Amino acid sequence: MTEFCWVAFTHDDSNDLRTRIDQHEQKYPAQTPSGLISRRTYEIDYLGERYAEGVDEKRVEDVRLVIYGELSRSGLAPSTAKLAAETGLDPTEVESALARLAANRDIVLRRGQIVMAHPFATIPLGFSVMGRKTLWWGGCAWDSFAIAHLVPDEPEVLVATQCPQCGTAHAWQVSREGPPAGSQVAHFLVPTKQIWEDVVHSCHNQRIFCDSGCVNEWLRSTGNESGYEMDLSTLWRLARGWYAGRLDRGYVRREPLLAAEYFASVGLRGPFWGL
Ligand SMILES: [Zn+2]
Ligand SMILES: [Zn+2]
Repeated sequence: MTEFCWVAFTHDDSNDLRTRIDQHEQKYPAQTPSGLISRRTYEIDYLGERYAEGVDEKRVEDVRLVIYGELSRSGLAPSTAKLAAETGLDPTEVESALARLAANRDIVLRRGQIVMAHPFATIPLGFSVMGRKTLWWGGCAWDSFAIAHLVPDEPEVLVATQCPQCGTAHAWQVSREGPPAGSQVAHFLVPTKQIWEDVVHSCHNQRIFCDSGCVNEWLRSTGNESGYEMDLSTLWRLARGWYAGRLDRGYVRREPLLAAEYFASVGLRGPFWGL
């Protein structure tokens, strides 16, 4: 009888989990490879908080710094084994630290893997960013333009993408000196107050188009409502100071929802930005 109850519970439990993963994958098909994952992995990805107990904040910051250091130098996220070796934590403690960082929105996990640590990404989201020594996936238009401002040894990078509507290739040499030339426009689909409902989806839809005509055509063909359109100078100013200090110990993450003053200072306007 006990065993029967246990089996029934497990069965219901994984059906519920499967349903939640299915719903997520239907809504955001590009980012979630199919296949059942464990409840624990799923919950750490999406509900990190409850697995984040028992690791002190200094250790969590140690893990964050190894992740950001590795991503800034190589474009690759460190493995759990590497994080454990570099911080002296055991793998379970590393997992708890990752859960804490995900709950804090310092990183984004999918199936237990680091897919984003803004402005870095480890999955293709429409942009490549090439420095002198390192090649990164840019998380989005905003993140791609931010990398030259953040990584000390790479003050100028080549950002490349394709117009999501017509496929035209675009590239800019982005530096700290000033905005790149170009008449293309950036379009952000998801307003700041909803960015973290699904941040991978939000970043994937912060793109650069040939012009307003391509944005409007894309909105029509995808059935999306208009978001916010800006020129490349505004995008560059938005990216310039947003991640300042992120590679240093003790960094406090900016929350887009609370950043109205910063957005206003770079020339953004309206309710899309919480203004
Ligand atoms: Zn186009
Ligand atoms: Zn982004």
